[in-house]
Amino acid sequence: MHPLAKLDHQFVWHPFTQMRDWLKREPTVIVAGKGAVLRDLRGREYLDANSSIWTNLHGHNHPKINTAIQQQLKKVAHSSALGLANEPASLLAARLVRAANPRLVGRASPRAGSSGASPHRLNKVFFSDDGSTALEVALKLAHEFTRRARSAGVSPASRAKVQPRFLSLEGAYHGDTVGAVSLGHIDLFHKRFSSLLFKTDRVMSPYCYRCPFNRAKPERADAREHRKCNWECVGLVEKKFASQKRRGNPYAAFVFEPLIQGAAGMIPQPRGWLRRVAEIARGHDALLIADEVMTGFGRVGQASCLSPFSKVRDRLEACPALFACQHEGVQPDFLCLAKGLTGGYLPMAATLTTQKVFDAFLGEYGEFKTFFHGHSYTANQLGAAAALACLEILQGKQSICARQNLEKNLRDELQTLWALPNVGDIRQVGLIAGIELVRDWRTRKLFDLHERAGFRVCEAMARHGVLTRPVGNVIVLMPPYCATQAQARKMVRALFDSICEVLGCSGGL
Ligand code: PMP
Repeated sequence: MHPLAKLDHQFVWHPFTQMRDWLKREPTVIVAGKGAVLRDLRGREYLDANSSIWTNLHGHNHPKINTAIQQQLKKVAHSSALGLANEPASLLAARLVRAANPRLVGRASPRAGSSGASPHRLNKVFFSDDGSTALEVALKLAHEFTRRARSAGVSPASRAKVQPRFLSLEGAYHGDTVGAVSLGHIDLFHKRFSSLLFKTDRVMSPYCYRCPFNRAKPERADAREHRKCNWECVGLVEKKFASQKRRGNPYAAFVFEPLIQGAAGMIPQPRGWLRRVAEIARGHDALLIADEVMTGFGRVGQASCLSPFSKVRDRLEACPALFACQHEGVQPDFLCLAKGLTGGYLPMAATLTTQKVFDAFLGEYGEFKTFFHGHSYTANQLGAAAALACLEILQGKQSICARQNLEKNLRDELQTLWALPNVGDIRQVGLIAGIELVRDWRTRKLFDLHERAGFRVCEAMARHGVLTRPVGNVIVLMPPYCATQAQARKMVRALFDSICEVLGCSGGL
């Protein structure tokens, strides 16, 4: 075994990994990367088919991001945001605010207040370190904002009873810190920590492929496109909000991943779902917390933004949309960003929110309305410099065009997988694809998790030179935006061959 691999075995504990299995074989030790390719210390090359756990946008070793970090490094690597401002973080905050609030083309927002600004304009940025902390910040802000709003003018006894409550989706995953875990509903990950957590509620997510209300028979096509239902999932959201209101404690906030839930199993929402449920939540005065840790920064494709301010689907400038919410014309009160923010280079996150939330924390020093939260590396200069370069590339014509091509190439290649009887559903949203493996596509029968079907297929893919990780029995393909047509083809071919090797490819389609 290579000495570096030995050191790993001796000292490193890997995340979400059964270390007994890990210690049985020599790990792949990555030493270099370029574009969509990673290279290990034995000189073997792999395609990074999940963009290094959904973080990388423009490829590894990108000259523009490298230069931005090097330039910043010549000035200063880090100074604290507790008591100090800094150049790249200020520039980045301004740029994020611009991207998060695309303006209507040719006219003002119909819901604009006297100042001309929408109450849902996201104009404040709180920086943190990763996806979990981005959610933790939103959660604490929403909690405190609601607690203060509902405590105003009530007796001290009633004030003590104000306990803001949160609603999130079935199968939700929002990170691994304790607040984020409380919002999560993946029993395998979250249930064992229940005594550490606070209680949140869950509501059905629109998992068309396995929806009990969907009367459509399995077909060789994305289940969203041939579903037969009456939007019962939306009805359940309405019911949940109404019953919580009857209990006298309406939900403080609704937390969701827009357009597609990632760790839940790459579960895409049918068009119109998000807009409908967001309207329900708003109708019940709940805040909207959008977790765009995975979906942000163009991941969900190239559709242009829809207006959050009117029923008319106005065209917005700053298109194509950078954030998934914008595809459905939904403007959240909190927009949580991480992963792709620095293009997969450095750990940095941002939680954007509204002036209204910000104002609720203003007061005299002695009132102690301050948001008592912050991390040592908040607004780190190197991360902010990388993020600025990353956004510059993302909003350039070349990247927009490359993303369009890659989305189409991926869509075309994925069609080949329908020939395999163990492929139950192929779900693509922009540059994210989830391929659900099943025992038999006609019955949608699941593999037992103990069989590790997803893992075994991914292990076979690695032998074909393609790296990714499954979510249960859903194989994820999420290439960096720079992946070429040939690379997209190689990713899908490796998946095809690996499914055949591991599960067999005859099944009498
Ligand atoms: N939210 C979503 C939607 C995620 O996919 C993840 C991570 N996979 C997180 C939050 C947590 O992010 P991190 O691992 O950076 O803490």
